[in-house]
Amino acid sequence: MIVPDIYGSSVFNDSVMRSKLPKDIYKALKKTIENNTHLELDVANAVAVAMKEWAVDHGATHYTHWFQPLTGSTAEKHDSFISPMENGEVLMGFSGKELIKGEPDASSFPSGGLRATCEARGYTAWDPTSPAFIKDGTLCIPTAFCSYSGEALDTKTPLLRSMDALNKQAVRVLHAIGLSDVNHIITTVGAEQEYFLIDENDYKKRKDLIFTGRTLLGAGAPKGQEMDDHYFGTLKPRVSAYMHDLDTELWKLGIPAKTKHNEVAPCQHELAPVFDTCNVAVDRNQLTMEMMKKVAKKHGYVCLLHEKPFEGINGSGKHDNWSLCTDTGINLLDPGKTPGDNIKFLVFLAAVVNAVDEYADLMRFSVASAGNDHRLGANEAPPAIISIFLGDELKSVVDAIENDEFFGKVEKVKMEMGAAVIPHFTRDNTDRNRTSPFAFTGNKFEFRSLGSSASVAEPNIVLNTAVAEILKRFADRLESVEGDKSDAIHELIRETFKKHSRVIFNGNGYSDEWIEEATKRGLYNYKSTPDVLPVFLADKNRKLFNDHGVYSDGELESRYEIKVETYCKTLHIEARTLVDMLIHDILPSISKYTDSIADSIIKRRQVSDIPTESDELRMRKLVVGYETLSKLCDKLKEEIKVADATADLLAQAKYYHENILAVMDDIRMLSDKIEEEMPKEFISYPTYADMLFYV
Ligand code: ADP
Ligand code: MG
Repeated sequence: MIVPDIYGSSVFNDSVMRSKLPKDIYKALKKTIENNTHLELDVANAVAVAMKEWAVDHGATHYTHWFQPLTGSTAEKHDSFISPMENGEVLMGFSGKELIKGEPDASSFPSGGLRATCEARGYTAWDPTSPAFIKDGTLCIPTAFCSYSGEALDTKTPLLRSMDALNKQAVRVLHAIGLSDVNHIITTVGAEQEYFLIDENDYKKRKDLIFTGRTLLGAGAPKGQEMDDHYFGTLKPRVSAYMHDLDTELWKLGIPAKTKHNEVAPCQHELAPVFDTCNVAVDRNQLTMEMMKKVAKKHGYVCLLHEKPFEGINGSGKHDNWSLCTDTGINLLDPGKTPGDNIKFLVFLAAVVNAVDEYADLMRFSVASAGNDHRLGANEAPPAIISIFLGDELKSVVDAIENDEFFGKVEKVKMEMGAAVIPHFTRDNTDRNRTSPFAFTGNKFEFRSLGSSASVAEPNIVLNTAVAEILKRFADRLESVEGDKSDAIHELIRETFKKHSRVIFNGNGYSDEWIEEATKRGLYNYKSTPDVLPVFLADKNRKLFNDHGVYSDGELESRYEIKVETYCKTLHIEARTLVDMLIHDILPSISKYTDSIADSIIKRRQVSDIPTESDELRMRKLVVGYETLSKLCDKLKEEIKVADATADLLAQAKYYHENILAVMDDIRMLSDKIEEEMPKEFISYPTYADMLFYV
């Protein structure tokens, strides 16, 4: 394979557009993409013709408006290009109108009350800033999705709005601090994706994996991840073949897959792309997840994207690397050699610190889900408290600014590794801190609390909007200063750090002392999804989204409602799956094994007087276990009924969290203990050892 030949071969990208479009049309489209201006229909018509010709040349027969409804995944409805003629032949047609607007029936997508079922009409509208691509013979056109009355029914629309808001306020601030040549900024995002690969044959035998994406039961294998031998370990040939295939598929789609490696847990891996513009990165992360699953099938694997597929070993997350870049090519979060004198860096750093401190509750909300509740705060993922890691050098810059001290240049430390043959290099100015939810990593922030299965849209909507709000306040203040603004800028940075540096924490986020300390500092600590759900509708957060035109009140309420509902539905399915497994698999297995012991005791007594005490004891334990498990199963069934009868949705979510999860935990604990005692032939599903080590 020659990578440059296949890279982007399925994408209607800039170079294709340049070669296929008339010059004036190409220029007009570029202007729309780069300056966020409106697109005229004649331009759209010309683009549609070129796009169709290119797609048909590449074997496409259909097109679809590809969008991201509030299900967290993507949606597509395929229409063929064909237009039959009277002479029996067929024309392949595609108009500008079809390119820019679609009218899918919106009634079966979650709307959180935004749209009555009878008002089925929804619209999809082309997002020309995210390139169209061909997937399975269909031309996919990234689109936004809204209701008949214009409310966003998707994640892309608010994301684009949040990018606009951030652009607007960042440019105001940049102009106010003297960078008048900047016309616009973009948000850049690189989403590192963790995943598990297990054998398809094992997967098919586990109802819990099929229905819920995670194992609800299963005793740990004798070995877990304690030897640290999987992280960055040599790739097994089968895994390597999968990753190779995956890279190829992603590269064809123009997705810049860059890094791949084994992760901490057995069967766990990671893929990281080179960063993109925020909305493109979000689209591409969705596609990456889709491809991970598809390519897995070809290799006899199933790719698990759940946040916690297996108890007792690490779960999967996603790191959202985030920064801001000007159209003049400056990364605004690049500290340069002397961060203490880098005013634009300090202004934007202060804005991020302020935004995270003030809107940490929203950030926590943006990553909350039933799946991610198993990770956050469980000492394998960042704690539920959102804080910022800056590293020692930047923290001392911030401290010096707060105390009005001069901050000089920091000398780069040369690394001496004690072996003459090793080339010398300078040390990075931030170490890594794996326990921090929001870490400064050299020239970007890395939001690490995201769950592996979720779209990265929501956390970026929150980040963009929160930072836009702080930049707006900065701009308002600086624009009102006449003449030289240097003092005002310094004062603004100092004041901001003084007020908000409580959110900065360079220590160990897993320690109990940090929880105590964070409480003292007044930081938010929402332990679970039901805990954090209500914050989305808090006055300050409504105001934030309203003021920047990111969410209307109706849109906010709809997202809230969908999130609460999704939480309840997830636990409802999990609880029912567990009941199903108990009744159809586990209890009958225990019963069968008990009978077999009883039979063998009887047989042995018939032929000899050798004592059968240990079998009797084993049987007794099993009978007691069976009884208890059976009662717990009935209790779970009853609890599900109570939860479902709870009319208030938030109360229902809390009930699921507090009561149902507790019974499920009790069941798991007992069932896993029994599993440890059962011979293999009586266990009706693949065990942890089968799934994680015999692949
Ligand atoms: P690690 O998290 O292991 O330190 P890297 O620093 O190499 O890994 O980068 C992780 C991710 O951050 C990659 O997806 C990379 O493209 C992305 N990234 C790098 N620079 C930026 C930036 N300026 N804005 C957004 N993402 C970035
Ligand atoms: Mg990372």
